[in-house]
Amino acid sequence: MAEAPAVPLPDHEDATTRHLVRVAGWAVVLIGGVIGVLLMFDAPVQPARVALNFVAGLVGALALLLARQQRWTQAAHLLVWGVWVSVSLVAARNGGVNGPNLLNYPVIIVLAGWLLGVRATLTLVGLTALLFMGFIWADIQGMFKPLQVANRVAGAVYLAGILVLTAAATLLSRRNYMNRVLEAQHTAANLATSEAALRKLLRAVEQSPESIVITDLHEGIEYVNDAFVQRTGYGRDEVVGGASASFSSNGLAPAQREGLRATLARGENWAGEQVNYRKDGQALIESVVVAPIRQPDGRVSHYVELKQDITERKRAAEEIHRLAHFDSLTSLPNRSTLMERLQVLQGRAARLPALQHALLLLDLDRFTTFNDARGSEMGDRLLCAVALRLSEILPPQGLLVRVAGDEFAVVLHGLGADVSLAGTHALVFAEKLQAALLRPLLLDGDAEEAQLGASVGITLYPQNASDSAHDALRRAGTALHRAKQAGGGRAAFFEQGMGEAAEQRFRVERELRQAVSAGELRLYLQSQVDVQGQLTGAEVLVRWQHPRDGLVPPGMFIPIAEESDLIVSVGGWVLAHSCAVLAQPAFAARRLRLSVNLSARQFRQARFVPQLCALLAASGADPQLLTLEVTEGLVIDDFDDAVAKMRELAALGVDISLDDFGTGYSSLAYLKRLPIQEIKIDRSFVHEAPTNADDGVLVEGILSVARHFGLRVVAEGVETQAQADFLSQRAPDIVYQGYLFGRPEPSEQWLSRLVPAQVEP
Ligand code: C2E
Ligand code: CA
Ligand code: CA
Repeated sequence: MAEAPAVPLPDHEDATTRHLVRVAGWAVVLIGGVIGVLLMFDAPVQPARVALNFVAGLVGALALLLARQQRWTQAAHLLVWGVWVSVSLVAARNGGVNGPNLLNYPVIIVLAGWLLGVRATLTLVGLTALLFMGFIWADIQGMFKPLQVANRVAGAVYLAGILVLTAAATLLSRRNYMNRVLEAQHTAANLATSEAALRKLLRAVEQSPESIVITDLHEGIEYVNDAFVQRTGYGRDEVVGGASASFSSNGLAPAQREGLRATLARGENWAGEQVNYRKDGQALIESVVVAPIRQPDGRVSHYVELKQDITERKRAAEEIHRLAHFDSLTSLPNRSTLMERLQVLQGRAARLPALQHALLLLDLDRFTTFNDARGSEMGDRLLCAVALRLSEILPPQGLLVRVAGDEFAVVLHGLGADVSLAGTHALVFAEKLQAALLRPLLLDGDAEEAQLGASVGITLYPQNASDSAHDALRRAGTALHRAKQAGGGRAAFFEQGMGEAAEQRFRVERELRQAVSAGELRLYLQSQVDVQGQLTGAEVLVRWQHPRDGLVPPGMFIPIAEESDLIVSVGGWVLAHSCAVLAQPAFAARRLRLSVNLSARQFRQARFVPQLCALLAASGADPQLLTLEVTEGLVIDDFDDAVAKMRELAALGVDISLDDFGTGYSSLAYLKRLPIQEIKIDRSFVHEAPTNADDGVLVEGILSVARHFGLRVVAEGVETQAQADFLSQRAPDIVYQGYLFGRPEPSEQWLSRLVPAQVEP
């Protein structure tokens, strides 16, 4: 049996046991001693019997000694086994299964059962049984004094019965002293283990390299570990009792704090990054988990904050990103950023197939010469100055990168769906880049200035679904090469033809801007007549008297002007001059009307109506004689706003005419709801009406709808008598406009023919 530590049992539990040990000890001492003394007076004296009884008495005395020292377990063992051994020796000496000493065994077994527990008792019973089998065998061999057979049998049966009964009784009393000692030992061991575990846990928290903060439910700090103290620089007594918001999570934005509280209120963990502040004000980036601490009944009693310092990791990641994506000399993004961006744009193109972007590759002309002449340090300074200059004119959506050496690239985003327009934008920007570099660059630390031309290669991107960033870069490179070959200082497109078209557009736009103020626009008028051939008015058609190209028709520049606010100034010029024409006395006297074309962008200007009002008032023109020609496109975008403005115009007395009628797709649907007074049948229908049955029917339809709504009808592009007759037969009050009655002519010329009519009475 294992050595039992001195485990105190509850008093009421072991008082009986202690008594038993003491009583049994004294009994053994007395019995052994008294019998030993008595045997000394027996004749003849048997020294072995005397000695054995004294040995038994000695065992009892030793047990009592151990009991005094509170060593109850040893005392119990000594008592039971010592007595058993001495009794057995006495029995062997007395002739085996014989004599009064047999009565000792049940007493010993019961004592063992009570004091030593089941295992010891079973061992004791087993040994006793073996011993007696030995006695019986020795008896049969005649080793003992001969006994009567009846005596032998009675002794054996008696012994067997005693053994079984005492063993059974002992086994039934399980809650004996030893078992309880074992249990107590067990509990103590458990307690020791859990205490050790707790100590370990506490050490782990205390010495954790991560900050640990425990707060109460009101975010008051109750505990911080060493890592927190070291990391933040706050002393433990400074923070314990304070609010988490002022020491532990003091960098949390109010919105983030609200989110944290809401998450904890739901009983969930919150995880996130915080930028907190040390006592000295330095920022600390921490990856934080805040978790509720629950008691065994499930109630949340505290919160624990686990904080990992990721400041260095973040900084390293940023540095790696910077090194990978930025050029160390100019701090501009580098080539890999360019490739990534182009790939992203290609990815978006799958969703928006129409959107165009431009890639411009810029290379400094004669940079190598500069570098050789002034040294590479000055070369580096020049590159930095170039980077700065170029970034100043970069649009917000653009990307400027240093590709390599003296090569820079620009990505212009979202230039619209129109390829040629996107090309124009790219070209305009390329010229802007070149112009920016032509202004002298001041080189840091050098009194001198530098000035370098640059060549630019341009390509549009993506050109198809499988276009790649590498392809685009290669195209731009080819274009750049071409620009360099042409002598430097130039911009070239990769797409052949795109260059010319874009250049043309670009030139028109640039020159037209000057043309308005330079007075190069001309007002042309084309007559409108009724079926009797009587003049009813005219349409104003603009022309551009170009100093180099001669008279430019509106089809060449109005669409370009309409793509920008340029149309507002062109249209404004036309309106102002039309009002001047309309103010001529002949118009009022003969009630002639003047029709002016109006672009959607012009009409959408917030101040369009008041500005027209002012023009009419300043010129003295009669608003009742003015018609504005608009197309369906004007109402499609914002129907309500368009209708509201038309109503304002109607209130002034200005008429609205729907131009190019029939070419749109929902003309009839709009017609009912638009406050208009006139429609103009498009010349394509007029041309075919007499010869093409379909067009004929269409024109008839338009005429009957117009009649239904009480609208005036002007037929555009009437060139032949047949066309005129077809129309007049179906609409006797129609107005003609077309070469049959007169081509557009300069307003002065048109007006001069008007004067004689006016002098008639
Ligand atoms: P539009 O408003 O449909 O103008 C009628 C066009 O038809 C004019 O072309 C006119 O010269 C042409 N035309 C007239 N009679 C005949 C004919 O019998 N046969 C043929 N084949 N054509 C005829 P134009 O002057 O070249 O003007 C073209 C377009 O330019 C105009 O079409 C109009 O949309 C626009 N435009 C002209 N002036 C202005 C303006 O001041 N402002 C705005 N916003 N647009 C203008
Ligand atoms: Ca027109
Ligand atoms: Ca028209």
